[in-house]
Amino acid sequence: MVCKICFADFELSGFRLFFEAHPIVCEKCFQKMNPQFFHGKILGYPSISIYEYNAFIRKLIYRYKGGKDYELKDVFLASYNKLLRFIYRDYVLVPVPSHIKADEERGFSHVQEIFFSLGMPLVIAAKKISLSKQSNRRFFERKQIKNELIPTDNLTKLKDKKVLIVDDIMTTGFTLQAMINIVKKANPQKIKILTVARRIAYHGEE
Ligand SMILES: [Zn+2]
Repeated sequence: MVCKICFADFELSGFRLFFEAHPIVCEKCFQKMNPQFFHGKILGYPSISIYEYNAFIRKLIYRYKGGKDYELKDVFLASYNKLLRFIYRDYVLVPVPSHIKADEERGFSHVQEIFFSLGMPLVIAAKKISLSKQSNRRFFERKQIKNELIPTDNLTKLKDKKVLIVDDIMTTGFTLQAMINIVKKANPQKIKILTVARRIAYHGEE
């Protein structure tokens, strides 16, 4: 087998054999990704983040999202595919949208692609738009532009459903809060949150 991250040939041994029918990440890269499964709550709803946003994960996400290494879409969840499908059976995936322009430039919607691998039903319940036009003015004026999430017509499909809101990186949690507030309007049966990584703010940062 060839590792999708470092391209090294590898053979899998140990406990991962039980969980992974088609392993795509070698043991070295697996260790560097360092899965932690952080449990938390956002607006009272249970959340899980698989990884800390460490240097290795940051590089991987950058390579995938910015560098357009599309093949990396599967590496983040690969080792937990079965586990996640079991934990969230009966749930509908609702990805936090990126800005529509960012998706167009990239050629794919990066959060959706990561979670497609779970083979679970997925509903696009919101989109991200800019409220005012981009200008070439000075920096402090450009900061006036606000990105906002707005619901799509699909939102009503979430009524009485168990909803799993998914995103790549949780930083402040504000975007996820905004997403929760949109999803709540559809009166779902349950809401949970799953993110690939969680950024830990150190003292003195931010
Ligand atoms: Zn590797």
